[in-house]
Amino acid sequence: HTKSPRTIANHTEALQEVMNYLLDTENQIIESPSDIKAVGHRVVHGGEMFKDSVLIDDDVTAAIEQAFDLAPLHNPPNLRGIQAAQKNLPDIPHVAVFDTAFHHSLPNKAFLYGIPNRLYRRYKIRKYGFHGTSHYFVSRQYYKETGKKAQDTKVITCHLGNGASIAAVDGGKSVDTSMGFTPLSGLVMGTRSGDIDPSILFYLIEKEELTLANVHALLNRHSGLLGVSGYASDMRDLIEEADNGDRRCQQAIDLFCYKIKQYIGSYIATMNGCDAIIFTAGIGENSPLIRQESLAEMDYLGIEVDEEKNNNAERGTVQKISTNSSKTDVFVIPTNEELVIAIDTAKIAMAADQSPWV
Ligand code: AMP
Repeated sequence: HTKSPRTIANHTEALQEVMNYLLDTENQIIESPSDIKAVGHRVVHGGEMFKDSVLIDDDVTAAIEQAFDLAPLHNPPNLRGIQAAQKNLPDIPHVAVFDTAFHHSLPNKAFLYGIPNRLYRRYKIRKYGFHGTSHYFVSRQYYKETGKKAQDTKVITCHLGNGASIAAVDGGKSVDTSMGFTPLSGLVMGTRSGDIDPSILFYLIEKEELTLANVHALLNRHSGLLGVSGYASDMRDLIEEADNGDRRCQQAIDLFCYKIKQYIGSYIATMNGCDAIIFTAGIGENSPLIRQESLAEMDYLGIEVDEEKNNNAERGTVQKISTNSSKTDVFVIPTNEELVIAIDTAKIAMAADQSPWV
């Protein structure tokens, strides 16, 4: 990775910089813009429309725009990125890969909230779920690694990074997930609160005279591990300080792991079983401590982590960390969202046959 900090006015200029970097003969990446055959775009919110990745045309652009309301922080910049890339590379296919698409298979009872149905019909207020490409990728890696068939297999995928979510994947399909209408709900995250009693908001709005913007910032940027510890959102820093005896950092870690354990328990109930629990992303792939604590005292459910395998799991590779007698496998599987985006993009672009593939 090369860093070259500078001020860039907008997405078009940023993309131009990326092109210059790719074309720079010193970097030896590509020789001409025509070496790029297609562009894949990660789009956070696909609303209810998209259950798969799609070739971007005017209708798709309009649908992404329609989902602005649902993901105000993510979809507008996603679309600006798409438009900038289209400007830089106008003659090749552009493909949108949605973070929500893998969770399109959630059944009604998993995606509806207990609020008046007209609000779902009018505003599409429901659970969508996110990190779809990651949950998809690691579940597929598990089938590949073990030779198990997707249709006969139940897995729980734990994407634990700065943002964190868990999914129940039954028969290859997502049947429930911890993030909801937005990526704010579910687990306690770096700076996001995860699930809280909504009444806390009414109470706080009154007590502290908070505005909507204040509440938004409170729950998205000042809560989670950062808020509870009062120290940091980064798990490495928290583990270090907890080791030094900081009680609040320890409480933040304990809370983080407790929520993971609870979601795992609930998804075992959802699927009536579980063949494997998979850990991925920054924390899931790198922290034996968090994996151990999240699965501690679950032998009633037949989950046993092998301490030595867990502590010595080689980074960046697929590792089984459960004991041989554990009823449920526990795996660490590095995620690769970019690869999912690249493969989907190549497939869709080739099918669309808009550019010469060699
Ligand atoms: P991500 O969003 O997937 O890049 O993950 C970022 C999170 O992973 C941060 O909270 C990091 O502190 C955490 N992380 C990375 N390496 C480690 C590690 N060795 N131990 C604990 N947490 C880690």
